[in-house]
Amino acid sequence: MSFVLSGVTYSYPRAGQPALRAASLEVPAGKTTVLLGPSGSGKSTLMSLLGLLWEGRLDQGEIRYDNGHMHDYARLSHVDRARLRLVEFGFVLQSAYLLPHFSCSRNIALPLELNGQPPAAARQRVEALLRRADPSGELFETRDRLPGEVSGGQKQRVAVLRAVAHNPRVVFADEPFSNLDPPNARRIVQLLLDWRSGALNPDDPARERTLVLVCHDLEVARRVADRVALLDQGHTVVDGRAFDIVEWEDWADRIRRAFSDDLDVGERGV
Ligand code: ADP
Ligand code: MG
Repeated sequence: MSFVLSGVTYSYPRAGQPALRAASLEVPAGKTTVLLGPSGSGKSTLMSLLGLLWEGRLDQGEIRYDNGHMHDYARLSHVDRARLRLVEFGFVLQSAYLLPHFSCSRNIALPLELNGQPPAAARQRVEALLRRADPSGELFETRDRLPGEVSGGQKQRVAVLRAVAHNPRVVFADEPFSNLDPPNARRIVQLLLDWRSGALNPDDPARERTLVLVCHDLEVARRVADRVALLDQGHTVVDGRAFDIVEWEDWADRIRRAFSDDLDVGERGV
């Protein structure tokens, strides 16, 4: 599924300043688009609008969704929105937000159950997914534990699997590894790449999978992005094919100069 934002200005209710100002962005289908920018620049707002996470109305501009048919953000009904969120989209946020009284595997099974799969079938799929996601078996071993009984890195991997269990077309990941140490951050990146490549859902190899990733790590961005957008104070400063806009080093330098206190320029080695 592809998205096109054109001149989007968006203000939160009761907020003085718009969070997005005439932001424009193309998110192509079947690619990885990375959103970069300092804190407060509007990355999460942009992602939440694309992901239909709330009913906010745009002040200006439009967002179009192309899933075979073109849809306009402003015209999507409640039913369309709910269907897109439940069936076509998956979400990963900075914290895992697992349900604490459900086992890890039941957490992953939830979107399958909500999409109508009987619990036993959902559980089988989840077990296969856990094995594919981690051939070492470590993650599989956590399946019957509660989220409080596994590590932070494992929790976040469970959260990624919950986001992809129902074979969504689009995954929105908002700083999914910024709370993790480098080895666990690498595992999250790898899991997202495995989803994108279809390795986690081998029964549907032809599916076009679109990843929208908000991330603070330029090295990761450079490695995974097909497209990059850079936001600053609600504006999209750059939107283009990854790193061929200008030479990578030059580009990184510009970002370093602009946002020197906020971006991790690869020191973490993820
Ligand atoms: P980022 O994800 O890049 O850090 P956000 O999209 O969270 O930026 O925030 C963009 C702007 O919108 C900031 O000025 C922030 O304070 C404001 N903002 C974010 N969420 C809300 C909200 N729920 N209500 C009002 N203002 C918000
Ligand atoms: Mg944010």
